[in-house]
Amino acid sequence: MHNHRGLLIVPENGAAKACCGRPLQYRECMTFNDNSNIGNSKVRRRGRTTGLAVGGGGVGVIAIFLLSQLFGVDLGGLGVGVGGGGDASGDTELSECQVGEDANANVDCRMVGAYSSLEDYWVAQAPAIGIEYREPALILFDQTTTTGCGNASSATGPFYCPLDETIYIDTSFYADLRDRFGASEGTLAELYVVAHEFGHHIQQIGGLFEGTDRSDTGPGSDAIRLEVQADCFAGAWVAGASQTEDESGVPFLEPVTGQQVQDALSAASAVGDDRIQQSAGGGVNPETWTHGSSEQRQRWFSAGYDGGPGVCDTFATGADQL
Ligand SMILES: [Zn+2]
Repeated sequence: MHNHRGLLIVPENGAAKACCGRPLQYRECMTFNDNSNIGNSKVRRRGRTTGLAVGGGGVGVIAIFLLSQLFGVDLGGLGVGVGGGGDASGDTELSECQVGEDANANVDCRMVGAYSSLEDYWVAQAPAIGIEYREPALILFDQTTTTGCGNASSATGPFYCPLDETIYIDTSFYADLRDRFGASEGTLAELYVVAHEFGHHIQQIGGLFEGTDRSDTGPGSDAIRLEVQADCFAGAWVAGASQTEDESGVPFLEPVTGQQVQDALSAASAVGDDRIQQSAGGGVNPETWTHGSSEQRQRWFSAGYDGGPGVCDTFATGADQL
């Protein structure tokens, strides 16, 4: 295990316990308190939208690339496809996701639990950094969906659309993340993704996108400052997650373990621009980076984990310190 500065390591208590619907060897998965009330109507699943044109070719790639420059969606370098119009329909509440035990058992409910914990965290923390909180929506989808920022497919990866203030996640991304980038299999890595996108929402409601130039790429660019700030916000939440509570005062999550923090760092690392360029078989060119290097993303996650959201002002950081 790498020794990340200042990371709090909570020892495993040794009690072998199946979690997250997986066998015993996956004890590293982040655990919700079985009895916490995670239910949240702001998380919905969108039914499969069939017959939607999905362009895998150059035009689609360019379109969504431009979209990403304008609106800051997270493409993650995963290859993208966009299609024509289509009506969003069939959103359903995840009424089967009521308690932490459900979140431990399946990924949809884990997203609901993550949302509820993040909501509780940011209701308390946003005012401390001068931001008035308002809630985002979270849509889980399958294959393709329409969004306020255009159409998205599974290959787009999880992203936040500022125009409709909604986080979009195709949960099959998590398997892709492991297969393509070798992220370790902890559920904290899944939760990290939600926390990062939630971080973009905090930027949106805080007006932090305004005045930034997201067409700029490379070291010190606004694009990278926004991305590593979202990583920093994600780290801050991970550190505070076990203190987030449902309306009855039951904590949503058990304290994180060192292994779980490693999983989240691994997820941050796996989506670093250098790692993605390497896995794509091309050269590593920092001038084209939009999200930051693996090292940068891990470092800002750790900064938030250690210091909370107040240390996440990446725009006040010199380019050589970023
Ligand atoms: Zn991002």
